[in-house]
Amino acid sequence: MPTNEELFARARRVMPGGVSSPVRAFGAVGGTPRFAAKAKGAWITDAEGREYVDLVGSWGPMILGHAHPEVVAAIHRAVDASPSFGAPCLPELALAEKIVSMVEPVERVRFTSSGTEAVMTAVRLARGATGRDKIIKFAGCYHGHSDSLLAAAGSGVATLGLPDSPGVTGGTAADTLVLPYGRLDLVEEAFAAGGDLIAAVVTEAVPANMGVIVPPAGFNKGLREICDRYGAKLIVDEVLTGFRVGPTGYWGAAGRDEGWAPDLLTYGKIVGGGLPMSAVAGGAALMDLLAPAGPVYQAGTLSGNPAAAAAGLATLELASADVYSHLDAVSVQLRGLITDALSEAGVPHRINNWGNLFSVFFTGDQVTDYESAKKQDTAAFGRFFHTLLDEGVWLAPSSFEAWFVSDALGDRELEVIAAALPKAAHAAARG
Ligand code: PMP
Repeated sequence: MPTNEELFARARRVMPGGVSSPVRAFGAVGGTPRFAAKAKGAWITDAEGREYVDLVGSWGPMILGHAHPEVVAAIHRAVDASPSFGAPCLPELALAEKIVSMVEPVERVRFTSSGTEAVMTAVRLARGATGRDKIIKFAGCYHGHSDSLLAAAGSGVATLGLPDSPGVTGGTAADTLVLPYGRLDLVEEAFAAGGDLIAAVVTEAVPANMGVIVPPAGFNKGLREICDRYGAKLIVDEVLTGFRVGPTGYWGAAGRDEGWAPDLLTYGKIVGGGLPMSAVAGGAALMDLLAPAGPVYQAGTLSGNPAAAAAGLATLELASADVYSHLDAVSVQLRGLITDALSEAGVPHRINNWGNLFSVFFTGDQVTDYESAKKQDTAAFGRFFHTLLDEGVWLAPSSFEAWFVSDALGDRELEVIAAALPKAAHAAARG
């Protein structure tokens, strides 16, 4: 059986950095990434046959745990009919109808294959609808790796401490205005200075790519009001939060209660149940500007893929109210265990959460935006991370990422985590 180290050496010879997506390479925490061989429920097995309790869940999609039998059966049925048609098909129709039925402001859905594509499409649509070029995004929010959204991005860009990426033209970068998260006054100022040039504000429903940041009360609704005043579109990115923090996501959990609606929502991760699938969604008037109903072009050879749609639909159908209560309860328990262990070891930390979604910052100060998130002790996180991994707990290899719970986590898994945490906390304390 080859070791993870041997596999990683082989991978680096044929793939940049040995991976298909940067954070997986363990750049921030050092050491050798584990090659995943298989996963079932809350457990993931690496190429050396070691088992870990998984708190990443493929970065969000595996809300029911890995390889849920009904999701796998739905995929098998779809694949038996053919992995791809490149034609309209029933699974995509059923998934679109499901999303429209679940999320009130949504009347139309366009399927894409990654979160990046979904947000990129939403931005093009907003530009096409308004005839304006500029967009506002917030520092530390991640909306995928399309050119206009890479500026001051979270996730891997934050993890690796990268400046804005080479390869993005000056013209594209100039069309993206980056503001600190949570400052409606600065959004107001930017619109006052050039509101007639701004096509859209793009925000994560709840930022979770610089760690989890709780939106200040009324922030998202305030963005709505400013956009309305200046005729700009509001794009709420729920690629990560959609169908995770509640039956629909942030929008269903809180947005509706505050009496506002985004113009466009983006989904990914859970809507594909672990296969590549994402979506742009919104009201009919705006969405019907997309080709072929309208002039804004967007397309995809594999878009609306039947297996991915079937996996997403099965996942959404299985994600009952009981599942969400379980996710919430597990998240509360986990957060309690983490804070107990870190406090006992004297490690300054903050845990931010929005429903079951949370992250742990290794700092004693409040974390409210990218600047405060960057002040954490990433070396302490690295020691914490590696001890947990050695003890059989699989976390995201960066303190800028959220922790993802799944319905498959139960008492046995929590015991493994509880047993590992004190050692990890003490490792974090040894600076
Ligand atoms: N938006 C958000 C909020 C995300 O969290 C992510 C990925 N984590 C993306 C967009 C990009 O999605 P993808 O990696 O599928 O391109």
